[in-house]
Amino acid sequence: MGDSKRLRIAVQKSGRLSDDSIALLKAIGIKLYIRDRLLIAHSTNEPIDLLRVRDDDIPGLVMDGIVDLGFIGENELEEKMLERQSANKAADFEVLRRLDYGGCRLSIAVPQEMKYDGIQSLEGKKVATTYPYLLERYFKENNINARAVMLTGSVEVAPRAGVADAICDLVSTGATLEANGLVEEDVIFRSKAVLIQRADGALSDEKQALVNRLVPRIDGVIQAKE
Ligand code: ATP
Ligand code: ZN
Repeated sequence: MGDSKRLRIAVQKSGRLSDDSIALLKAIGIKLYIRDRLLIAHSTNEPIDLLRVRDDDIPGLVMDGIVDLGFIGENELEEKMLERQSANKAADFEVLRRLDYGGCRLSIAVPQEMKYDGIQSLEGKKVATTYPYLLERYFKENNINARAVMLTGSVEVAPRAGVADAICDLVSTGATLEANGLVEEDVIFRSKAVLIQRADGALSDEKQALVNRLVPRIDGVIQAKE
């Protein structure tokens, strides 16, 4: 699959990054015919195929060379990089551009009634998150002994459910936290969407030439919006 002559780009199938990523591809002149149920979408005017997957899968697809490019949030990218490093798996990729969408922060939030005087308040506590590697790195950097409890969904209800004392989750407006009686305390990671490419030198000359033609157009689209 990775050897196909057509450039393969992974995008989130449906979620917060999907529309902006597709819109950006269209804005740089790539005509796409997307059928909602299908995993693959072809461009009708460039040798490009889209692979539409869960965002969690995108860093690995790029790092394993299954696809050539991917649109992904830095939070997910950094988490998967730490996970692979801890398993001694190669985590090679190149960030081509930081993009102007997908902005969010990974924050520690605690129940309103909990007294919080900084990260040391979490000593000995359990913190629910979908990003255990980023959270554990933060604990380590701050010399805190606390436990990351991995949950893939409904992280914000964990304290009320008695599963954890606090949470570490993505925030953009804070409305979800407030609705769940939580207060945002520490930002541990700030994220935007990025366009990543397989490890340096891994693309054929033809594909690299195409990428080199596309990236300046992305710059043009972003500048035009500023
Ligand atoms: P998938 O089904 O693809 O796994 P998901 O539920 O993991 O979807 P989304 O909620 O669509 O993912 O979020 C995808 C990315 O969008 C996040 O990883 C993050 O980079 C970005 N993002 C921007 N704002 C927010 C936000 N308020 N909450 C969550 N993610 C956000
Ligand atoms: Zn996901």
